[in-house]
Amino acid sequence: MPNYDFKKQPVLLIQGAMDTETEYLIGQLDEPEEITCGNWKFYTGFLGKHAEPVVISRTYQGMVNAAAATAIAMTQFCLWAVINLGIGGGHDARFHRGDIVVGERVVPMGAMIRKYAPEGAGIDECDFEPLPIEIFDKTLGQTRKVLDFPCDERLGDAAMKVQTDVYVGRGVIGSADEWNNQLDRIALLRERYKTAVEDMESAAPAELCLAYGIPFLGIRIISNSIVTGESFEEAVGVDVQKFAVSFVERLHGMREEQE
Ligand code: SAH
Repeated sequence: MPNYDFKKQPVLLIQGAMDTETEYLIGQLDEPEEITCGNWKFYTGFLGKHAEPVVISRTYQGMVNAAAATAIAMTQFCLWAVINLGIGGGHDARFHRGDIVVGERVVPMGAMIRKYAPEGAGIDECDFEPLPIEIFDKTLGQTRKVLDFPCDERLGDAAMKVQTDVYVGRGVIGSADEWNNQLDRIALLRERYKTAVEDMESAAPAELCLAYGIPFLGIRIISNSIVTGESFEEAVGVDVQKFAVSFVERLHGMREEQE
């Protein structure tokens, strides 16, 4: 597509935190160009058989980095949708290493309010409620409080239609600057938030996309699951990127409809 203006025409933002989650996608770009903004690099180009205009962003790990990279992308590009993908830790025994969770919604697992306890009463890890988070809803022009962030239905449906050999299921993605290994805690998070997988980034872009009214989808491949006893394997990061290429090909026409 000659003369596509990535700064002014609608593009799909695809984010991953690490090289293992972005390098393959960057390598698949036609006419790749690198743009640096502060600490972050963005790669524009065309992806897949329909030459979809995309920006690949390596956010670095964690919520703050993911939020910063998203905010920069929102100011630099005209985003019609945001996909945050990568590896994650299983909470739901239905998903094994290498399986893919297509986000139903994203919950900020670290946002909690704890009940009063007097001095000396000890610390009850279970004694919390999810804390509503304030967003500025651009469409409403005012703030409101939310407990979770939705994933876009149409993007989710397109992801569920991707032809692949691996098991793909819908599920809730839980995000926080946390890596949980206590089985009872994971069971509790699963009970309170219905999480299928945890990661350290998705909730940040999901929150900003809700605030800005931009369609969002989180996609996670299980790289480890203490629940099923499967150890960490970072290399599966390439498989979620291959899945993303097929997914992007399924979005053909959706960008124009969104405009
Ligand atoms: N070799 C890397 C491993 C990082 S894994 C390093 O030493 O830094 C952490 C990243 O993978 C985060 O970006 C997070 O989103 C994801 N992740 C994978 N499994 C996770 C888990 N069980 N809990 C939280 N984040 C997980």
